[in-house]
Amino acid sequence: MSNEPVLQAKNLSKRFEMEDKRILTAVDDVSLNLYKGKTLGIVGESGCGKSTFARMLVQLDQPSDGEILYRGKNIQNLKGKDLWENRRHIQMVFQDPLASFNPRMKVREIICEPLLNYKLIKKSEKNAVAARYLKMVELPEDFMERYPHALSGGQRQRVNIARALALEPEIIICDEATCALDVSCQDTIVQLLVRLQEQKNLAMGFICHDVALVSSLAHDVAVMYLGNVVEKLPGEDLVNKVRHPYTKALIDAIFDLKMDFSKKIEAIEGETPSPLNAPQGCPFQDRCPECMAICKEQKPLLQTIDEGHLVACHLEVN
Ligand code: SF4
Repeated sequence: MSNEPVLQAKNLSKRFEMEDKRILTAVDDVSLNLYKGKTLGIVGESGCGKSTFARMLVQLDQPSDGEILYRGKNIQNLKGKDLWENRRHIQMVFQDPLASFNPRMKVREIICEPLLNYKLIKKSEKNAVAARYLKMVELPEDFMERYPHALSGGQRQRVNIARALALEPEIIICDEATCALDVSCQDTIVQLLVRLQEQKNLAMGFICHDVALVSSLAHDVAVMYLGNVVEKLPGEDLVNKVRHPYTKALIDAIFDLKMDFSKKIEAIEGETPSPLNAPQGCPFQDRCPECMAICKEQKPLLQTIDEGHLVACHLEVN
């Protein structure tokens, strides 16, 4: 990509100290960029660190190491008013809007609250503003009078998207934003996100455990395993050009993305190790059918093997 990244994560790590003093490494030295008008899909099984990474991007969690740059400026040490101002630019769409909505607020207040907080609208403008954003997410204007519990899951997620976009952010991070919805509803929400991204030229991070869904909208995909990015490649190459044994296993574990039913569907064997007991060497070694002696000794580095395609696997050099 030729344009400059709008958001850069540089060597981000996040460690948590447990009660027994052991260290849990949730994110380990991850570097990824987000670009205007592009979607970066981040995929991996539950516990791979993708949500912790997302929380650092929106400054809900502080990294243990590394830097986050917005338009080239380091933002992770911002405090007070500067932090508050910067939050406008990077908004998050969570998995469960009900948990983040005040149940006593009507949809109008939910959408307008961030704008009022930032003093971008007057109270007298709430109706017009709520109507505009409801239209944007394809909901009827009279929904502004409803409470969250009177909405379906898909309608709540639309309100959630309207609220996230009300501040006109440049970057939107969707953390499993569609995984609680049924498949047809998931599809319409993804189509809405894609349309809004194109209209507003947003940079979008789409974090999801569903490889097929990520491949349907991401321009680039980063695959995470045990806190590490093990492969990154253009979304269009996800079906045919993956090289890392974990990515291959992820794809074999679902129906073939092109619905080629002649292809064997394989499950990934074994369990992901606990991040408290991450092995020395390659994080995927215990489940990898191609594990070699070197994999147990040296952690493979993420290296470029083709344009826009990076892999962390010793097979790529041996
Ligand atoms: Fe498998 Fe070794 Fe590659 Fe890790 S480095 S994915 S263990 S072959």
